[in-house]
Amino acid sequence: MTKQNKAFKFRLYPNKEQEELLAKTFGCVRFIYNKMLAERKEIYEKFKDDKEALKEQKFPTPAKYKNEFPFPKEVDSLALANAQIHLQNAYENFFEGRAEFPKFKTKKKKQSYTTNMVNDNIKLENGYIKLPKIKKPIRVKQHREIPADYKIKSCTISKTKTGKYYISILTEYEKNISTVKIQKVVGLDFVMDGLYVDSERGEKANYPRYYRQALDKLAKAQRILSRRKKGSTRWEKQRLKVAKLYEKTANQRRNFLHHKSKELAANYDAVIVEDLDMKSMSQALNFGKSVHDNGWGMFTTFLEYKLKEQGKQLVKISKWFPSTKKCSRCGNEKEMPLSERVYKCICGLVLDRDYNSAINIKKEGLCLLALA
Ligand SMILES: [Zn+2]
Repeated sequence: MTKQNKAFKFRLYPNKEQEELLAKTFGCVRFIYNKMLAERKEIYEKFKDDKEALKEQKFPTPAKYKNEFPFPKEVDSLALANAQIHLQNAYENFFEGRAEFPKFKTKKKKQSYTTNMVNDNIKLENGYIKLPKIKKPIRVKQHREIPADYKIKSCTISKTKTGKYYISILTEYEKNISTVKIQKVVGLDFVMDGLYVDSERGEKANYPRYYRQALDKLAKAQRILSRRKKGSTRWEKQRLKVAKLYEKTANQRRNFLHHKSKELAANYDAVIVEDLDMKSMSQALNFGKSVHDNGWGMFTTFLEYKLKEQGKQLVKISKWFPSTKKCSRCGNEKEMPLSERVYKCICGLVLDRDYNSAINIKKEGLCLLALA
């Protein structure tokens, strides 16, 4: 038996009183987070040229600020401890080169805090959820059941820019997963203008039309916003419109990525992808935001856990593997500028550039699987 995690996200409907308490908690968490981050930033600036010394530095803990700025009694203290863990993770991601330096939290962005299950302090029943420090349970729109043997570990309560409340409930359960014998394998080549090209049919998995149209609409709304006078009524109105469109597209993207990864996990026993460093890629290729927004990182995360749940595998091959330069038939290598859309080899192979890469990725993955 192995322990598995699953998160469930539901819409929350707090009443006025509850909204006020949530706002207070968001505010306290933001305050402490920013305090700890400011200090961390200072230490980082001081030691950034000496990685060894930087590693030795002790970072502040919430206890330090607790005396200086006492937390209001009515605010959940677990939220504070989690703020530290979140900052710790964000900083480590930065330190390992996976993310940018953590940013300060602002009131204008999405607000959130996380609390943990301790001695049954969280209870979900009859369309209401009881949370620590909040006297009355909050109404929740539970569109799916959480199985009885799933234990609640923690909850993250959030408020979006447009004022909607959500709760993400992280659960843990035991599952007997037997490893699947690997027979059906697919390689995926990441593509910028879509999601991926697969090694089996060479077909491009692209976002649906309605999503791309929604993205265009969002871009247009953002352009209008940038022309309006900041702080004016018209600006505020447009800002809300942008935020709504942004939330809509983010949800559409998420749903699509869930759908695609589910499909792949159902059809294949192993999926091979390249272990891409999205951050440096977007910098090196000057693609700016588009790589981040492509959703590849979220997609591989979904894919990995959906495969794992079924005893299947996601195999990541080295980002240095020359998947685009190699001929997938004879193994010869040549330079492939971005402008060349078709791979033509001396052996006679003529194949779509991304299709060729996807086949190479699959082959390399098969080698790794054979070694394992
Ligand atoms: Zn060849």
